[in-house]
Amino acid sequence: MLKIQIIPVLTDNYIYLLHDTVSQQTAAVDPAEAEPVLQTLKQQGWQLDFIFNTHHHTDHIGGNRALQKATGCQIIASQFDSERIAGVTRAVNDGDVLYLGGLCFQVIATPGHTLGHIVYYCAEAACLFCGDTLFMLGCGRLFEGTAAQLWQSLQKIIALPPETKLYCAHEYTLTNACFALSVEPDNPALQQRVLKCQQQRAAQQPTVPATVAEELACNPFLRPNSLAIQQQLQMLGQTEQAVFTQLRYLKDSFI
Ligand code: ZN
Ligand code: FE
Repeated sequence: MLKIQIIPVLTDNYIYLLHDTVSQQTAAVDPAEAEPVLQTLKQQGWQLDFIFNTHHHTDHIGGNRALQKATGCQIIASQFDSERIAGVTRAVNDGDVLYLGGLCFQVIATPGHTLGHIVYYCAEAACLFCGDTLFMLGCGRLFEGTAAQLWQSLQKIIALPPETKLYCAHEYTLTNACFALSVEPDNPALQQRVLKCQQQRAAQQPTVPATVAEELACNPFLRPNSLAIQQQLQMLGQTEQAVFTQLRYLKDSFI
């Protein structure tokens, strides 16, 4: 069985500690900092075997070297990023498979936010660690890739089973909610979801994870086929990719 421990760090980052209860193997997804990971490992009595990096940004790899030094763990990252992430012990590509004990994780390439961005999917535990590709009610900014690339990448995520739980790397949900409501104010699923997320944040709980089905119902970046959104953007009948591109552009300057 897969246990997932959420560690909030920095301003709004989440580190995920994954622990296979059968083999006792443990992985840290995007350790921005080492110290909180070491503390949690100690509390749980776990030993770190792997780091899974989604991409090379500092707020995702900042704890890599200290953790590797302290635990001797392997560092997994995309081949594309293997030159710009220090200490990588295994470079992976789209379709590669990793094992945490007996649990299988599939690597899916999702360029857009960065060109080397990858996500980690565990079908058995029905979860995806999606870094900065998809956020709850939002998606990653385009630092290196194009909107067309990111749209293609998001297609791979929404093709996963609807019950798949999405673990993104930042708590951006309430700011994303403001933009989502501005482009689709009358979506009842979105309205309810925002209320739920507001309650979670008021109780200092993460709004992560959400499922693919929930995001499909609420996240405007996954809904460029929505007539309400198309109307709001004055883009009725345009392609999904064109509407997505415009949404990404509008979000960049949204206050
Ligand atoms: Zn990033
Ligand atoms: Fe980030």
